Amino acid sequence: LLSPTGSPIPTIFAEMTALAAETGAINLGQGFPDEDGPAAVLERAREAISEGANQYPPGRGIDDLRLAISEHQARFYNIPVDPDRNVLVTAGATEALAATLLALIHGPDDEVVVFEPFYDSYAACIALSGAKLVGVPLRWPNFQPDLDELRRAVTARTRIILVNDPHNPTGAVFIPEVRDEIVRLANRHDAVIVTDEVYEHLVFDGELHSPIAAREDAALRTLTISSAGKTFATTGWKIGWVTGPAELVDAVMAVKQFLTYANGAPFQPAIATGLRLPQTYFDGLAATLAAKRDLLVAGLTAAGFDVSVPSGTYFTVADARPLGATDAAEFCRELARTAGVAAIPITAFTTPKRRHEYATFLRFAACKRRDVLAEAASRLVGAG
Ligand code: PMP
Ligand code: GLN
Repeated sequence: LLSPTGSPIPTIFAEMTALAAETGAINLGQGFPDEDGPAAVLERAREAISEGANQYPPGRGIDDLRLAISEHQARFYNIPVDPDRNVLVTAGATEALAATLLALIHGPDDEVVVFEPFYDSYAACIALSGAKLVGVPLRWPNFQPDLDELRRAVTARTRIILVNDPHNPTGAVFIPEVRDEIVRLANRHDAVIVTDEVYEHLVFDGELHSPIAAREDAALRTLTISSAGKTFATTGWKIGWVTGPAELVDAVMAVKQFLTYANGAPFQPAIATGLRLPQTYFDGLAATLAAKRDLLVAGLTAAGFDVSVPSGTYFTVADARPLGATDAAEFCRELARTAGVAAIPITAFTTPKRRHEYATFLRFAACKRRDVLAEAASRLVGAG
């Protein structure tokens, strides 16, 4: 079944989570943690409910969360953000992305450049906005774009360059030359840069996340989107935000107010608490995830997959060609039934035109307990 945007119903995440439940497979498909996040964050939400934070919060988000977001951007990236003019709280990064595309796209002549494979809501929201999607492929095994292909994709018709760094589903972190080229092209063609940074605190091996909005030559044309789900293991709370120049944020607000108006009253103060946690929390988060990635990569390798070692995010991409795969979606359904492990086919993140280039790639989530990852690895090795 396809939605009017051409995207499948249910989404691939819902399909694979349901299949895992039905078959008893370990769910390394949908990216959500199986352990709670920081106790102080959870406690603050409980307190906020007791204190009566149960009615509509302000449409732009409560003052304290907007202040905490601005403090966070200054603390980690040295980006100046006025909490009253440059921040909008949204129902997750998902709403921020949808409202941004609906706000900035004027009509069918506008193009949105995206890196392919891409998070599934991108194509759906670009279709809803009426724009044309222009994909720039990220290729195995490093998943960095070819700069010439990028140059050919960005033209006078480009309204938005949509960047997801660190990248879902590949786990890639763009190298500086890629960011330089994105900024150069956006300036040359007067495009808005929209960055999806929901994995900003999940960059491994001593690297640091580098937001495009921190650059002087990009700040005035960049909207930065992030959310609390991955950083505080609260994917069900759906607290996200967009920061950037006041006129761009106001345009997003104009759409957002008619999508949800506002959300998550008791979760907003809790996420403000989270954003102010000490550095040790953020270091520990990345280190824990990197160790889980190592466990997953070792397990997949032992099971016979070719593995692309990710630099960040919850995810690892594995090529199942050595195991005889020719169709990733079919292979995932088989894997859940026969090996008892659910994954996501990368083909769910591509345009139909490029699907064949990703036909044997699977995405596995590492954001699970160590014992769960070890059991998944032993099932995969056993099945191989
Ligand atoms: N962008 C990317 C790249 C994601 O992976 C996700 C969710 N995992 C989202 C956006 C959506 O974030 P949220 O749950 O905050 O809406
Ligand atoms: N972002 C999550 C992932 O990539 C899934 C979110 C969803 O189910 N829409 O796995």
